Amino acid sequence: MSTSVFEISPFLFQQIADAVSEGIVVLDRDGHLIHFNAGCESLLGRTPLDSPLERWPEELALFLMDGQTQLPANRLPIAQVLKGDEPEAVNVRVRLPSGEARALRLSAAALQADHGPPQGAYMIINPSGTSGISAESLAESLPDPMFLVQESGLIADVNEVACIAFGYERGELVGLNVRDVLPEFASPEWADLLRSSAPRVNRRKTTLLRKSPGLTRVEISVKPIGRRPGLWCVIAHDLTTSWDLNRDLLQETVTNTFYDPLTQLANGVLLTDRLRHGVERAKRCTEYVMAVLVLGLDRFKVINDTYGHQVGDQVLSSIGVRLQHGVRARDTVARLTGDAFAVLLDDIDDVNEATCTALRLQKDIEQPFTVSGHEIYTSSSVGIALTGAHRSRPDDLLHDAETAMYRAKAEGKARHQVFDRKIHTEVRTRMDLEADLHRAIERDEFFVYFQPIVNLSNHEIRGFEALVRWNHPTRGFLSPEDFIPIAEESELIVPIDRLVLKKACRQLLTLQGSLDWPRSLSLSVNFSGKQFSHPDLVDHVTSILEETKFPAARLKIEITESVIMRDRESVITLLQRLRDLGIELQIDDFGTGYSSLDYLHSMPVNALKIDRSFVSGMDGRNRNFEIVRTIVTLAQNLGLEVVAEGIETEQQLEALTSLNCELGQGYLFAPPIQAEKALRPLSEQTD
Ligand code: C2E
Ligand code: MG
Ligand code: MG
Repeated sequence: MSTSVFEISPFLFQQIADAVSEGIVVLDRDGHLIHFNAGCESLLGRTPLDSPLERWPEELALFLMDGQTQLPANRLPIAQVLKGDEPEAVNVRVRLPSGEARALRLSAAALQADHGPPQGAYMIINPSGTSGISAESLAESLPDPMFLVQESGLIADVNEVACIAFGYERGELVGLNVRDVLPEFASPEWADLLRSSAPRVNRRKTTLLRKSPGLTRVEISVKPIGRRPGLWCVIAHDLTTSWDLNRDLLQETVTNTFYDPLTQLANGVLLTDRLRHGVERAKRCTEYVMAVLVLGLDRFKVINDTYGHQVGDQVLSSIGVRLQHGVRARDTVARLTGDAFAVLLDDIDDVNEATCTALRLQKDIEQPFTVSGHEIYTSSSVGIALTGAHRSRPDDLLHDAETAMYRAKAEGKARHQVFDRKIHTEVRTRMDLEADLHRAIERDEFFVYFQPIVNLSNHEIRGFEALVRWNHPTRGFLSPEDFIPIAEESELIVPIDRLVLKKACRQLLTLQGSLDWPRSLSLSVNFSGKQFSHPDLVDHVTSILEETKFPAARLKIEITESVIMRDRESVITLLQRLRDLGIELQIDDFGTGYSSLDYLHSMPVNALKIDRSFVSGMDGRNRNFEIVRTIVTLAQNLGLEVVAEGIETEQQLEALTSLNCELGQGYLFAPPIQAEKALRPLSEQTD
């Protein structure tokens, strides 16, 4: 006659239970926890105190995974026993609080005195691989890698050959999904097969992913074990050792299908596949979150241009190595195109985990790279998107992360940005505007407004600054701030600036002629930095001057400080050639950029325009007053003209004249106005 455990003293029972390495959970008839031994604690990484005791076994099931999904509580063998069903042992994966995953096998039985009803149930928890699968010894004698795969795709066990051939530890392979090593299994056809009870053998030539990035061509045969469906034996015969074909060539071809040849990271194809798994898993399991980080290098073109492509390529592969080291083995690092990378963070807790990882990776990349004796610095902007309700396709997720990355770049680089709905709307508006901009050039929707530049001592008009306006078909007049950044990003600024130059030259001459204006008025035109990447700039300006007959000596081109500080040599050459035509050059928004002062005097510039922000804040002898004074003195010392922007009040005018600032513009004199109005005397002008 056997003895119910309840007839042994609880103390004695505990002693025995804690002495074994298996986990033992005992529940009473109502599912309340009676015992949870030390083995359980170490296998599950939890004590019962971590969870409310009332909700066993639901609580337990919560952190167990069946393949890619959470294990339903009714699949727990102990729950089946309590319901009076025949329990079925299961292989599961437990996620330890440390983040590590472990494969376990659970089996259960009723706690029963000889004749009476069950008093409860107990469950035994074993690490997988010691589950006593009877084929074990047979499997070990097989010359080919073998996997035991559950219906859900979870790898329940493997033989030693599989571990050696594919570079995994047994503990790593067990508990993975078979798709992670045999991407072929991602297709619905195989998923259906694993769920079916067809007792047939399926053979196919396919590709197996090794742990260290690499592929092996194999022939797999898939066969159910026993008569009951649920467990399959997959044998992967390594074809590369027996094929007559040029193995290296084959390997290379297959590798190129999934891996980026430069960095050896996953390529877009493999990335999309992994993304799809994540998205699918997130749909099935609300707890599962995957993050996609798209990481774009800032100013990588400069590295390529300065040091050449070979150095650039080496930097890219070193970045690949750093990224790979910066994430866990189960995360995926891929190279998208050019200087963009993607990182998939599998099964994270929340957005904070993703942003912390992003910050860490960004820091890693900011450390210098030493390539061919050069110390090279770079930084990256990161966009982050998380799986969630509205993202049903892998492409959506990647696209959102890319969008957020562009946003991070636009906000000033070396930042990260998490995608949200607001960005979505903004991006849409931006994309619409960009499309409209293309049409605007064709339909000639741009207008030029003119703002007088005045001699501050006698208020005489010395010239005009041409400022562009866009008459948008549905949104009406848009100011440059609304569209110039978009135009700059899409390079549309180049034709726009040239259009403005031509129109402004023409209009100013026409009006001046018709009004018989006595003096030679200057014309200031703004040029985006993008103009200076186009070597035909000088020819283009020359041809506009010839066509419109506008005298070069009366044209002033305004550029910002960032333009002259970038790519100095090539920009200086272009600026010098413009100067040779007789055109004057002015630095716009002076004081807001990063001009190096010792550099300024060697630049071919004629004037500084003091940024509006300093002028508007001039109040008594405050900080802004001092800044303006410094700029005026600097200009005078360097023999440059100085123009104050944005003069709005008499006080500002007085302060500027007291500093001997010669020229200025601002609402105090006149706002930017259409050409017809511009040449009327200042006293007649109204807003
Ligand atoms: P900017 O070249 O510094 O032009 C001066 C800006 O200050 C103009 O803004 C002008 O309307 C505004 N402003 C002038 N006086 C006052 C004032 O007293 N108070 C205030 N609050 N503002 C004043 P706008 O026309 O909106 O142009 C903004 C910027 O867009 C320009 O700054 C320039 O950088 C750029 N931009 C304008 N037209 C063009 C163009 O044809 N090509 C390029 N590349 N950029 C342009
Ligand atoms: Mg300007
Ligand atoms: Mg300005």
